[in-house]
Amino acid sequence: MAVTAVTAPAVPSLPARQAPETRALLAAGPLLHELSHGLGGPYHVLFPGPFDANAAAFRDAFAEAGVAGRVYYAKKANKAALYTERAAVLGLGVDVASLGELRETLACGVPAPDVVVTGPAKADDLLRVAVLQGALVAVDALDELDRIAHAAAGLGRTARVLLRRLPPAQPHSRFGMDAEELEAALRRCADAPLVLEGFSFHLSGYDLPARADLAGELVRLCRHARTLGLRADRISIGGGFPVDYADGDDWRRFTEEQRPEHYHARKTFSGGFYPYHSPVAGAGALRAILAAVPAGEADPLAALLRAAGVTLLVEPGRALLDQAGCTVFRIQGVKERDGYAILTVDGSSLSLSEQWFESEFLPDPVLVPRVPSPEGTHEACVGAATCLESDMLTWRRVPFPHRPAVGDLLVYLNTAGYQMDSNESPFHELPLPPKVVVEPAPGSADPAARPRWRLDRHP
Ligand SMILES: *Cc1c(COP(=O)(O)O)cnc(C)c1O
Repeated sequence: MAVTAVTAPAVPSLPARQAPETRALLAAGPLLHELSHGLGGPYHVLFPGPFDANAAAFRDAFAEAGVAGRVYYAKKANKAALYTERAAVLGLGVDVASLGELRETLACGVPAPDVVVTGPAKADDLLRVAVLQGALVAVDALDELDRIAHAAAGLGRTARVLLRRLPPAQPHSRFGMDAEELEAALRRCADAPLVLEGFSFHLSGYDLPARADLAGELVRLCRHARTLGLRADRISIGGGFPVDYADGDDWRRFTEEQRPEHYHARKTFSGGFYPYHSPVAGAGALRAILAAVPAGEADPLAALLRAAGVTLLVEPGRALLDQAGCTVFRIQGVKERDGYAILTVDGSSLSLSEQWFESEFLPDPVLVPRVPSPEGTHEACVGAATCLESDMLTWRRVPFPHRPAVGDLLVYLNTAGYQMDSNESPFHELPLPPKVVVEPAPGSADPAARPRWRLDRHP
């Protein structure tokens, strides 16, 4: 067989899915370079459009199933003001777990009754403000229930509470109450200044039937609580709706082909990888949960909720942020190694949080050259501008379609959900990457028109 000039890349690629907003921004190459220059370092880009669309899709899933439902944006997934501002405008609720998150949410205009406060053993000042504002509080433990009842009594108010269920399938979880504790909690609700609005859980992992099963149990708990004269008309199934970062065929090929020698220093990851492809994701996952028949029941969850008159609350973080942002670094050094390059960028892996969970954010970053360069596959890993051997943004040797050069940009796509800032730190006195809101110019119907930008500003 004749040898042709075409050489397949030696290492597998994993292209990230791109929403139109991302494509338009990448096409507006000079804007990315101008921002890198003007902001003087790495930065995060925030897109409002995909957030709005994801919220609408969750609401559509409730409407299609004929289920009363409410969407609460889980704020911990991103510290930007933008998404909380959009939540306020769209009439979404917000899930907060600290006084800082609560304060920002209220300042962004979300009415306090639309806030749910989650997290373990919440601080007294957080509980006090939540009670005074009339926010819903997911109570994690019996002693916390006593503290919130005490706070409400002292303030002459009534606290709105959910009781968080310890998932029976995750008995080692440190969150929630077991069956016995719940029973004790129900008795205490009956004669305290508390309105028991229902029950909640949040599961780690992305198992959809497990969520339907536990939701079925919570509906039964609502029926039981009502026999004790408690209101119990809503349940929250938390977040954990998967995000589909990559095409199924690309993900399959990647997982089949990738080997330790495809990573700088033959790095392996004990934390495993996020499932970057999910055939059922986001609002589709909510649809699947509503259509599933919970264990021990004969009807789908949607029918059980309707029959019991129970409202379903969901708290998506990552899934509402799908395609709602990206992160831009500038290459400031290129070092050649045995067949690949080590790039050094102007920031650190503290701005790409997956790297801190014994794992790697796998989707290929997109190379945006400073000047046009000839095509040809060049493999490179990506290191940070810090003095730590372990501070790598990408250990993997990514097959880039051009030779990376100093001054080129690397754009990590779809980073709004948890990647941007959950681990950020001004380590080495490097500035924290600012956040830039990018949206279509007003009145522009042309999707290829240059988008406009502003800084994300906290109220
Ligand atoms: C983190 C968290 C969420 C959001 O999880 P995602 O995986 O981002 O959807 C929702 N509810 C609670 C209680 C959480 O702790």
